[in-house]
Amino acid sequence: MALSGLDIYKLLPKTNCKACGFPTCLAFAMQLAKKAVSIDACPSVSKETKAALEAAAQPPIRLVSVGRPEKPLDMGNETVLFRHEEKFRNPCGLGFVIDDSLSDDEITVRVQKINQLKFERVGQELQVNAVAVKQTGNAERFVEAVRLVGARTQLAIVLMSQDAQALAGALPLLKDTKPVVFSVTGASVDSLLPAIAPFKPAVVVSASDLQGVAALTQQLTRQGIQDILLDTGAKPCAQKLWDLTQIRRLALRKSERSLGFPSIVVVDEQDPAAEALQAATYILKYAGLVLVRSIENWQSYALLTLRQNIYSDPQKPLQIEPKLYEIGTVTRESPVLVTTNFSLSYYTVLGEVEASKIPVYILSVDTEGMSVLTAWAAEKFTPERITQTLQKMAVRDKAQKSALVIPGYVAVMSGDLEDQSKWDIIVGPKEASGIPAFLKTLGHGKANR
Ligand code: SF4
Repeated sequence: MALSGLDIYKLLPKTNCKACGFPTCLAFAMQLAKKAVSIDACPSVSKETKAALEAAAQPPIRLVSVGRPEKPLDMGNETVLFRHEEKFRNPCGLGFVIDDSLSDDEITVRVQKINQLKFERVGQELQVNAVAVKQTGNAERFVEAVRLVGARTQLAIVLMSQDAQALAGALPLLKDTKPVVFSVTGASVDSLLPAIAPFKPAVVVSASDLQGVAALTQQLTRQGIQDILLDTGAKPCAQKLWDLTQIRRLALRKSERSLGFPSIVVVDEQDPAAEALQAATYILKYAGLVLVRSIENWQSYALLTLRQNIYSDPQKPLQIEPKLYEIGTVTRESPVLVTTNFSLSYYTVLGEVEASKIPVYILSVDTEGMSVLTAWAAEKFTPERITQTLQKMAVRDKAQKSALVIPGYVAVMSGDLEDQSKWDIIVGPKEASGIPAFLKTLGHGKANR
């Protein structure tokens, strides 16, 4: 847990010698609490105090990065229990389990399909993060399956094996990436660590309860292994959620260092819908990496959309650049649709406009990322602001003969906007889904003026 300036002051020599460049120890302590200076600036501080301050400066949940350096999967480094307290920092990874019992062709097809699980939503690319190879038979087959997967994906790789021989054969194949070894247990830790430690993978510790997991992390950290993920085994969803919540709570609120690592969850459900629901639960609270089996597009899209929403900064709505966007081959007669610069609003309108295949301008007004009704209620989407945007973007230079279409939910502003902007105002549909039909009526002069 971060120390306050006063907490730090109590640990300093309190001689006010000024050697640190500050007039008093208290002034130095205050800067140290803000991380504006280093403790090294004080020559009089004891080794013990320095160690205590450095330990306090560590994040309560360690940042663990796996995968390729140019495309890492970062997990952990979380500082809050609830998103609204600040934000969640590193989006939960989503990965897929592939059994080594599949044929080479089947593995290749599955990896290719996983690689293609990329989607664009509200201007951001959403992608899955990991492929897990699970050992089901002998070491040779596992090593061959890892070779196949490693050569076919840039995603992070999880080695699901507790076989020292299999891991010793597979890890040298993954020199360009930092894999995850899943897992060591109380029974296997002593035999597995010598085989895997030289390759410096991230290591999952597995135990059925938090005490067992904590004992294993302490054992690993004593041996210099810091990149650790926590696993409390297969359990009913409610129990798993309890484990994940307790781990997060103890790490953040009780500064329990032995549980200050990201968690990994394997969802083992045959029904894809139930699997997606469970995975969604763990993305919400509080997994660092979730592994599933199904590689259906609908499932990944739903989970990645949920993840995107949970891991966005609640203080900063997703925004696009406020400007005049040209959609299709616009002319001077093309209508101008007005919306806000909230990403979801803009991309929803854009999707419907593109579906209509009718060229239009979309004028995105700077509402500080608020949606239409929220911005209107907060007086960020007003006739004045829209008029200023029209002028600033010189919209008349491009859309000389067109009308301005405002969202149906803010029809009440049409009179004021017409007076202030001197544009013909047309009230559009309330929902974006009505845009294609609306644009067709607009072409035939039937829209509401
Ligand atoms: S150098 Fe250390 S002891 Fe001297 S004023 Fe700064 S903090 Fe205090």
